[in-house]
Amino acid sequence: MTGDRDLFQTHPRSRGVFCNRTLNFRSLRAIGYDMDYTLVTYRVDAFERQVFEYARERFLEQGWPVEDLAFDQGMVARGLVIDTQTGNIVKANRFGLVRRAQHGTTPLSFGDQRVAYAGTQVDLSDSRWVFLNTLFSLSEGCLYAQMVDLLDQRRLPEVMGYRELYQRVREVVDAQHIEGRLKADIVAHPEACVILDPETALTLLDQKNAGKKLLLITNSDWNFSSAMMTYSFDRFLPEGMTWRDLFDLVIVGARKPDFFTTRAPFFQVVTEDGLLRPLSGPLQPGVAYMGGSAAQVEKDLGMGGDEILYVGDHMFGDVHVSKATLRWRTALILRELEAEVEALESFAGAERTIAAKMEEKENLEWQFSQTRLALQRIRGGYAPVPAESAACLEARLTELRARLLPLDSEIAPLAKAATELTNGRWGLLTRAGNDKSHLARQVERYADVYTSRVSNFLFATPYVYLRSPRGSLPHDPSSPGGASRILPPEGAGNEE
Ligand code: IMP
Ligand code: MG
Repeated sequence: MTGDRDLFQTHPRSRGVFCNRTLNFRSLRAIGYDMDYTLVTYRVDAFERQVFEYARERFLEQGWPVEDLAFDQGMVARGLVIDTQTGNIVKANRFGLVRRAQHGTTPLSFGDQRVAYAGTQVDLSDSRWVFLNTLFSLSEGCLYAQMVDLLDQRRLPEVMGYRELYQRVREVVDAQHIEGRLKADIVAHPEACVILDPETALTLLDQKNAGKKLLLITNSDWNFSSAMMTYSFDRFLPEGMTWRDLFDLVIVGARKPDFFTTRAPFFQVVTEDGLLRPLSGPLQPGVAYMGGSAAQVEKDLGMGGDEILYVGDHMFGDVHVSKATLRWRTALILRELEAEVEALESFAGAERTIAAKMEEKENLEWQFSQTRLALQRIRGGYAPVPAESAACLEARLTELRARLLPLDSEIAPLAKAATELTNGRWGLLTRAGNDKSHLARQVERYADVYTSRVSNFLFATPYVYLRSPRGSLPHDPSSPGGASRILPPEGAGNEE
């Protein structure tokens, strides 16, 4: 089949579209896109550093001793949770159990963490916990962690608790997004912040030409959205076409998540500089609007929730709410996934070694438990006496212990390395210890599919039928473990 190499667009696994719930693109009639960190990708180290810096300046003006604070991209990660009661940042597993924690910028020892969180379950519906939903959360998390250190050192000019401190950080970070300076800087020098991806424009062109209605639904205002979309798309579109021609509907200032749950009025954007007029009547194709509601979008497009796919990067505002309230099909953009998948691939050999050694360990532990029980029965005299003498069994226990110890010390560094992949402090986004992380659980619940960037849909094509894998369970024959399934090595139990 000559020419296949040219025809079939291939991609590394890290750029795959991963599927939780079967999604047939052919049955979609509309695809809605979020803008920031979805269609337009920012350099986290530039954008979040800028937010951090402007917020720091604001605190400096208020006389807070924040001269030495600096943005550090690795200090926190998406999917972590701020515990506003204790000034900690935690990583929870899929059950909400805390698996790692730091107080301010200092990691908690395993013992301290257990004491702090024994019997506590992270419940995101409780305002104690603040989930880091998106890459926008990194500047806030990083600033809060460093502020907690200052609070503990009693260096803040005001007396307050960890919760109040969080509120202050939140207000100041929030203000940076709303006041004009940050956005004006980015509009003036988009090249410093925006990562261009020529394939995103082609992806949207493919979808549009395959008959999908494309919607842009962003919380950003008109001027910022227009500048970012022009910069990111127009250069990659056919002659004479602009980003506006890609979309059947453009909605700015959408106020997600409320956009999905309430009925606010739409305003029409009537001039290029963003003059607004209240909308009367239904939404018109090709027009830009501000505000509004998803309910009216559904009504005026004449589409039901499962005919619309919404693609966004905000775990709660884009994906959780649109799925939970309207049953839209959902795709989460998780940029960090590329590094995550690559790290997992390069660690695959070590992972196999861990699995083999764990199997060996479980076998030895099984033998240990059986021997110990036999000894207990001899001593208790309540069950038939085993063939071997107590002395013999004691010797066996000593021998098994001696074999287990070195095995543990071989496994420990490998297991530690596994928990430090991509981020020495926090490890992989989607894992917490040996289990799925709280983020992974939410992705599973609310995102039908997830992928690192919009242009990965290019390889998938607008005709793809994405099928979910068969869910695995601990009792599957292919799953390791299950004490009763572990057979002793050949010959064990027949000695002497
Ligand atoms: P979207 O992702 O396209 O819906 O747009 C996100 C918009 O929300 C961007 O304009 C961000 O600057 C803005 N944003 C992000 N975090 C905050 C915040 O904490 N307060 C207010 N606006 C925010
Ligand atoms: Mg976004």
